[in-house]
Amino acid sequence: MPSERKYRQEIVRYGRMLHERCFVAAMDGNLSVRLNEERILVTPTCVSKGAMLPVDMVIVDREGHRVSGRRNVTSEIGMHLLIYDRRPDVGAIVHAHPPTATGFAAAGIPLTEPLVCEVVMGLGCIPLARYGTPGTSELAQTLEPYVSNYDAILMSNHGVVTYGDTLEHAYMKMETVEHFAQIALVTHLLGRQQPLQEVEIEKLLLARSKYFGAKIAAAMPLPRAPEKIGAH
Ligand SMILES: [Zn+2]
Repeated sequence: MPSERKYRQEIVRYGRMLHERCFVAAMDGNLSVRLNEERILVTPTCVSKGAMLPVDMVIVDREGHRVSGRRNVTSEIGMHLLIYDRRPDVGAIVHAHPPTATGFAAAGIPLTEPLVCEVVMGLGCIPLARYGTPGTSELAQTLEPYVSNYDAILMSNHGVVTYGDTLEHAYMKMETVEHFAQIALVTHLLGRQQPLQEVEIEKLLLARSKYFGAKIAAAMPLPRAPEKIGAH
């Protein structure tokens, strides 16, 4: 089990990667790691995610109250608390505003078309949650319908949140979402899409079971988002 010190360094590293790839601008975005049942290590507010120091991180309890750290916790902590509460398997969360995926979120278009086999295998699809005001409980509420069944969610007129067992996996899902959004955009520019057929999706789900085991595969994100739940 990595030490808290190691987690602080990891958050610095992946924060820098988010910034380098333009997945965040200015002070945007936030990252967190679940330290144990009671404590979450999370990025502070009003700091560039490309210029954080390990000492900048804040530790909060399950209600989001600061228990250590000099800085103030991110205003989007409520979203992190909800995800950790509903998903005991999740150990880390990344929230960012990558331009192409956020463009889809601002256009009201979910990334639910099964266009790329690897994305269907890994993420299923990326549903679109309705808009919620940042810094309020409304934001977490908009994500609630999707948190149990998906590991990546587009947030209308805002950005993207991804999560996984480790910070590395949560971050990689953010890269996958943005990359897939770019591919989806190209299909829109080309004026046509050729989604995978149902029979091919079934085969991918079967392959999931082989790669990950039936139990894990059954718990993995669904390839299609339920229609109309919170989506525009
Ligand atoms: Zn945000």
